[in-house]
Amino acid sequence: MLRANFIRDRILECRDEKLAYLAIHNHGGTTSVSFSPDDYASHERGYPALLDVARGVPVGALVFAPRAVAGDIWLPDGTRVELVDGSIIGRRLRRIGPTLPSYAGSIDPDFDRQVRLFGDAGQAILAGATVAIIGLGGVGSLLAEFLSRLGVGHFILIDPERIEGTNRPRVIGATRWNARTWFTRDPWPKWIQRIARNTASYKVDIAARVIRRASKHATIERLKADVLDPKVAKRLLDCDYMFLAADTMRARLLINAIVHQYLIPAVQVGSKVVHDKDSGEITGVHTITRPITPECGCLWCNQLINRAKLQEEAQTERERQAQRYVDEQTIVAPSVITLNAVGAAQAANDFLFYMTGLASDEASTAYMRFDPRKRSVSLDSPRRSWDCTECGIGPKGRLARGDAGKRLPTFHEGD
Ligand SMILES: [Zn+2]
Ligand SMILES: [Zn+2]
Repeated sequence: MLRANFIRDRILECRDEKLAYLAIHNHGGTTSVSFSPDDYASHERGYPALLDVARGVPVGALVFAPRAVAGDIWLPDGTRVELVDGSIIGRRLRRIGPTLPSYAGSIDPDFDRQVRLFGDAGQAILAGATVAIIGLGGVGSLLAEFLSRLGVGHFILIDPERIEGTNRPRVIGATRWNARTWFTRDPWPKWIQRIARNTASYKVDIAARVIRRASKHATIERLKADVLDPKVAKRLLDCDYMFLAADTMRARLLINAIVHQYLIPAVQVGSKVVHDKDSGEITGVHTITRPITPECGCLWCNQLINRAKLQEEAQTERERQAQRYVDEQTIVAPSVITLNAVGAAQAANDFLFYMTGLASDEASTAYMRFDPRKRSVSLDSPRRSWDCTECGIGPKGRLARGDAGKRLPTFHEGD
């Protein structure tokens, strides 16, 4: 029996830290669960008073069976809601609710060969999933193709850029007409070249066409804007999974923050060709797949977000907004579709096994680096520092703080 003083102290703690107060117990049964009449009677007696003490944070109860959960949540405005479903995060996702859902007859028979791996439940989870792809260049366009053919139901596509002729060898679905290839090169006068570049197709529109060709039913939201735009970043909070295929430090910082603050897993994926500045000799070719999950430490504690580069990017952005940058960026890195494909496929597989709950118990959580020239894979286990401001525990960290947490590192006044 919980004493009134004990409960009051916990609620005051929650109020101070802006956390919800949830009383949790368990019942018998396995795949379904509900509150008893006594449970409900005690909620109705006690919760109105608890809400008064909680002043602005929700109070409520959860009751668990091994594979089910029910909830009775009282919101600060006095409304009372039942839990419809819940997610248990970790190495793999587990969806649970008051009863086991039934998928009989709801799966498109075209998915037969996949259903043999994922089961009806897994395929239905993919159909219900919302993914964000940030960056629809080489890697992102492959992800759009893979995920839509796998049967993912909802896409949020984010990229402010239009396609260029030199993107075409890597971007699935891109045509010469999309890139206005003929008009963007000599001997056409510069002003015609500029008009051609400024009317080329947006990368998100090309990706949307790729998805539509694979799936009639998918919903697609296209955002022709920077992910650091606060309105765009907010859309990410509705996702089940984020694919970061645009490699800027600022995008890494933002996605890393959302993963930990809102418990939405992500993967950073890309490929890189490194050459010696003096000799021009190629010194490294590799593809990287870095899972970013709430349980394994973050990009910040693993020195994968560089302060100097963050400042450099903020500076460039200020100049761009002041119109001092007229044309495109000047650094052109090597990029090849088959290198991108290795990373995109691994990232899509990580997502699949996480979402369908099929990830192995022994699955590594390490960052993967594949070197196609040596045909070797190296694994780098992420570290976690518990006092990290991003993934650490406690009121100073972002971990699981949701809307009550720190402001997200998006663009703001003065940038
Ligand atoms: Zn009970
Ligand atoms: Zn961290």
